[in-house]
Formats: sequence, C-alpha cells, structure tokens
Amino acid sequence: MKKVTNPNYLQHTLNQPIHFIGRGLHTGKHVSMSLHPAAADTGYVFRRTDLAPPYNVVPARWMTVTETRMSTTVGNNHGVSITTVEHLIAALFACGVDNCQIDIDGPEAPIMDGSAKPFVDQIVATGLQQQEKPRMALVMKEALWVNDGNAKAGIVPFPEPWMDMTIDFQSRAIGRQNIAMQLNQENFSECISAARTFGFAEHVETMKTLGLAQGGSMRNAVVVENDMVANPEGLRFDNEFVRHKVVDAVGDLALLGVNIVGCFVGHCSGHRLNNQLLRTLMYKEDKWALTTLEDAIVNWDSIMEDDKRQGWQSEF
Ligand SMILES: [Zn+2]
Repeated sequence: MKKVTNPNYLQHTLNQPIHFIGRGLHTGKHVSMSLHPAAADTGYVFRRTDLAPPYNVVPARWMTVTETRMSTTVGNNHGVSITTVEHLIAALFACGVDNCQIDIDGPEAPIMDGSAKPFVDQIVATGLQQQEKPRMALVMKEALWVNDGNAKAGIVPFPEPWMDMTIDFQSRAIGRQNIAMQLNQENFSECISAARTFGFAEHVETMKTLGLAQGGSMRNAVVVENDMVANPEGLRFDNEFVRHKVVDAVGDLALLGVNIVGCFVGHCSGHRLNNQLLRTLMYKEDKWALTTLEDAIVNWDSIMEDDKRQGWQSEF
C-alpha cells in the first residue's frame, strides 16, 4: 500500500483526554465521562468504570446496537450497556476522531445541552493527533433502501460523503423540513452541531412512565407544545429539528466503523431505521466496495466504472 500523506486520509485520535460531567436524558443519572486517545483501528470503545472488568467494555458498532427507542444504545453479551451515544459519536466522527476510548461511570452519555456542540467545542479545543493507518471507506456502487411505513432511509452512489434529510411532522411547529449538505467537519460544526434534540409535551408523561426522559427539560431539549415551541429562548435555527436529525444520523451511521462515500437519504428516518440500514448494508456486499478513503475519493470514477464493466461482461 502506498504511503498516505494527506492528513484527511489518515486516522486520528485525541491529543489529550477530555472530561465531561452531566446528566442522562433518559435515565436522569448524573455521570462523569472521559474521552481518551486510543490506538489506530480501535474505533469507539466504551468502558463502564462503575462496573468491574473484564465485562465492562462495549465497542460502539452497528452490531452492538441493542435498543433504538428514542435513542441509540450499545451493549455487550453480559448485559452491560450505554444509552444515548449518538450525539457524542456524531461529534467524534464529524471532528475526525477515528479512535477513542470513552470511560463512563453510568449507563447513559450526558445529554449536555441536547446538542453535539459541547462535545465538538471540547474536541476542537483539545486537538487531534495523526496516526499511521489510513482511513477506510465504503464506496456505494448501487443504491440501497430500507423502509418502515412512510419512513425511508438509503444510501445512493455519490463521489463524496453527503447527507439529505427530510422530516415531516403534523405539528405546525415543525412541519416538513429538508436539509442537504456535504458531510464535513466545517459543515457539521457550523450548521448542525448546535441543533438540539426535541420532544412533544404531550408525550412527556407517557415517556416518563416508560422510564424515558427522566432527565429531560427545556435546558437540554426543544419542547413542542400545542404546535408551538415552549422554550422561552426559542429555536437556534428555523429548521433546528431537521438539523438535529442529521446529528442523530451522523452518529448512527458512524457506527459502521468506516467512512461512507455516498449520499445518505433519510425521509422521517430515526435510530431504528438508521441501524437497520447498516445491518442490511453489511449483507449486500454487491452494492459497495471497501477501500481506503483516499482511493474512494481520488479514484471514485474508476471504482464506479469497474463496476459497470463487470456488469457489462456478465451480460454477455
Ligand atoms: Zn438526538
């Protein structure tokens, strides 16, 4: 393999550990969480410091997702789990942190202000260190879709990582919103990371009965009540809701463990469908090619051409 020189194509980890304290959105538990540098090819690995080793380790990957109701939970075979990982993972991925060990003394990542921005700000302030191994990428050669009623999620061939998200809520406070953008650190930091999670006042009682949203408040979520935004400070963006759905999708898709060179298209998709898309993708090997991120971006045309030639040959 030839030596990669462009830092965008190499793996990175954090320069220094970063510490966060906060409360879980769903469990309401106060937690202390530290992000640590990790070796190349580690990916994102949680370690529950309130539990004894060796069963307290949980890699955050598409196949370790155990629950997708209201948030994304990862767990291991010993019943150890961490919930609401998606905003943290989105921030790590979008800021270019490929490898990170996450120590946490409770069952849920802190919700902070409901967005990915507090994580992004600290990661950017701390800085990254370059590692020797190349970043890998899955190049989408043919579209793949999964759906659930009106909700739909897919990845279609595109020469760089893109997101195209649409939501459609009956509530007049939200309605139909769409955002399409290149997925890179600058766009994520400036346009996406500050968008907060949201919920409906009429669902709060049911969620609390189900043990969810125990730590939820207008300090860490946008609350929609009677077709109005109840938060006195209002919204951070006119279309904050769809922007937050991009945070969620970036975090959910980062659990693939490699970059995706293609356009993610989500229509009312959430954590469950996002994870189902990755699980389906893994069984459809004819729809993608795995290569280095550099090869995927620089030689995208020829990767797609190779596929067409193969298709042409198989017809005759
Ligand atoms: Zn979210």
